[in-house]
Amino acid sequence: MKIIVQKFGGSSLVDKEKREHAIDRILQRYKEGYSIVVVVSAMGRRGDNYSTDSLLDLINEDSKDLRSKDLLMSCGEVISAVVLTNMLNESKLPATAFTGGQAGIITDACYSKAEVLYINTNRIVKCLQKGRIAVVTGFQGMTKDREITTLGRGGSDTSAVLLGEALGSELVEIYTDVDGVLTADPKIVSDARVIRTICYNELYQLAEDGAKVIHPKAVEIARNKNMRILIRNTVKDDVGTLVTNSLNSDYYSDDKKIISALTHKSNKVQITIFTEQSKDMVNKLMKEIAQEGISIDLINFFIEKIIFTVCLDDLEKLKKILKNKDYKYNIVSNLSKLSIIGHRMCGEPGVMQRIAKALYGEKIDILQTSDSHTTIWCLIDTKYVNKAINALHKEFELNIDD
Ligand code: ADP
Ligand code: MG
Repeated sequence: MKIIVQKFGGSSLVDKEKREHAIDRILQRYKEGYSIVVVVSAMGRRGDNYSTDSLLDLINEDSKDLRSKDLLMSCGEVISAVVLTNMLNESKLPATAFTGGQAGIITDACYSKAEVLYINTNRIVKCLQKGRIAVVTGFQGMTKDREITTLGRGGSDTSAVLLGEALGSELVEIYTDVDGVLTADPKIVSDARVIRTICYNELYQLAEDGAKVIHPKAVEIARNKNMRILIRNTVKDDVGTLVTNSLNSDYYSDDKKIISALTHKSNKVQITIFTEQSKDMVNKLMKEIAQEGISIDLINFFIEKIIFTVCLDDLEKLKKILKNKDYKYNIVSNLSKLSIIGHRMCGEPGVMQRIAKALYGEKIDILQTSDSHTTIWCLIDTKYVNKAINALHKEFELNIDD
């Protein structure tokens, strides 16, 4: 049995016309002789009737009843699965809908961010063996005690990759509303280009640093298992982006560029603490920050100060720590972290110079930087994000296919 997993995101299921395109995608693989597992997200986004956010709007958002919240959120995918299954059956494609629990996806009991412990594939395999398409709700599973859990936002990507792995699928296809992984978010850069092949490490970084197109956890799982992923547009016949290991034979590097893609994360806050060389004080402060569960980023130590960033969500907790301390500090809000990603930049001179040239050319201050083998991060004022990404895209000629 050659198996393929096809995941359809919320934007691909939002109306009948889109769902018909999804059916075409499934039919195409069905005709190729694949046994098919379809993974679905909830239909659409906030404002669309059955999207996850619209369901959550039905109850008090501060509700502490996390079990009920998960139960409610799981309904969006159930509706998608039933509607798509109905359409498949009407198109003479025999299909059965399964909840995550019915599909054997067993998780821990951490509501809203459950981890998948294992998948018992018996029921899905039986369904496929009967020549039927299995339509599985993404984003959710079930505990051993039969409680329904959800996996966190973007969790359907994770469901698809985990099912692909458990079933020994040849490929996991992620269908979405863009042509694949692009050099930047097309909502920001109008001439962003589709990257034909990307390696797991680059895509992981891109996803982790803000590109929504796939969840980082799904990329991480696929990387560990060498599971091939194809990211494609549901409504457009385009080859999309193949995600694989650069050592695989099907990895064709169509791109010699030093920089592959750009992304960003907003809601960053920069804190400068004037430490006046007190190492004890710094140690104590760092310990308190860690104990409060605050994750710090982009940290630089100087003799007379330390500078770091935190997410806006953690600012109140941090302020409590800093209160009543006898040292000075400064807080700058409304910042964003740009990520300039490319696995060929390592050891390549002049990359930072070009980044500075592009940003300074737009009169954008760089407030802090950091780098790794695959990424350079620059902290800037959020109001300049679109300008900065467009300037960098142009500087590194990411729109040009070479
Ligand atoms: P889905 O509903 O299919 O899960 P998402 O909204 O989660 O779709 O992800 C697709 C969106 O990701 C696109 O509409 C696009 O705006 C955004 N995006 C951000 N960065 C990128 C990128 N580098 N490449 C492709 N899409 C991106
Ligand atoms: Mg998504």
